[in-house]
Amino acid sequence: MTGSKSPQSLEDLASAVRANDRVALGRAITLIESTKPDDQTRAQELLKTLLPETKKSIRIGISGPPGAGKSTLIDQLGMNLIAQGHKVAVLAVDPTSSRTGGSILGDKTRMGRLAAESDAYIRPSPAGTSLGGVTKTTRETIAIAEAAGFDVVLVETVGVGQSETAVSNMVDVYVVVAIPGAGDELQGIKRGLLELADVIAVNKADNDNIERANRAATEYRAALHILAASNAAWQPAVLTVSARDNAGLDALWDKIKECHAALAESGVLDGRRADQAAAWMREIFEQRLLAAFKGGRRAARQYQDIEDKVRAGEVTPAEGADELAALAGLKQAK
Ligand code: GDP
Repeated sequence: MTGSKSPQSLEDLASAVRANDRVALGRAITLIESTKPDDQTRAQELLKTLLPETKKSIRIGISGPPGAGKSTLIDQLGMNLIAQGHKVAVLAVDPTSSRTGGSILGDKTRMGRLAAESDAYIRPSPAGTSLGGVTKTTRETIAIAEAAGFDVVLVETVGVGQSETAVSNMVDVYVVVAIPGAGDELQGIKRGLLELADVIAVNKADNDNIERANRAATEYRAALHILAASNAAWQPAVLTVSARDNAGLDALWDKIKECHAALAESGVLDGRRADQAAAWMREIFEQRLLAAFKGGRRAARQYQDIEDKVRAGEVTPAEGADELAALAGLKQAK
């Protein structure tokens, strides 16, 4: 690895990533996060070179409301996994952090012990990027992390907004971190999030909170029972844990592995990953189409004019889309 600014060949960069060189890993991800067209071309070439080394990890989404204990749990679970010989990458999908100035997901100081480990790699969400942008870079960063030999990839997101759906479209197993609430136990956890969960970990089951955590777990089990299982291969599980006391985290890891194995054996996992790849292609294609259309100055202005009319309620969104389609020379959709 050269420390100089001289441009490194993509082959060298790929080799250094494969060798788990941290500087190279950082460079590769920076390339992926870059919006410069040249960098994007290089990033795609790099991904293509590394493709054979990807798809080898167990990809886990970790979601839950702010304060549920996600970073505490990731820090502790990550330490446990490293002790077992795993290599753990933590990535964040958090399009809001830069705007609200709130807690920054994937922030190294929130996972202090794990951040200091050589077998861990923590990458915060790129700041000031839209959900679409964060989703794109996170998906590609998963591939880079896998090529670098990380066999467990944890993708952290806040369980509010749309980021949790985006994350479910890039992981194998989805874990929701919940906490016992007052009265209504499902407080703070939206039904939509529950539907995505493969495993629910009710956290903070310690000291005088244990009873409440058990009650919450019972209610979650009942709620999950009402929701139809999203697939026949796996019935979502509920556990109580204390991330702070490192209690129940081995059982949580066993459940995650059990779920992963069940999905893999039934073929659901391959199906999920195939669907994700197909959806991903469609997303990129849609973005390309839109970018190509808006690429011309005149078209960009026309697009803006029509968007303004839609915003003002002068034309309906469907009418606006028809106008745009006509401008793009597309045939009328039936
Ligand atoms: P995040 O916003 O979901 O990442 O939550 P944090 O991990 O930052 O935790 C929020 C607060 O809950 C912190 O004060 C933690 O110390 C505390 N906390 C996290 N896990 C536990 C736990 O298992 N038991 C208890 N009692 N507190 C916890």
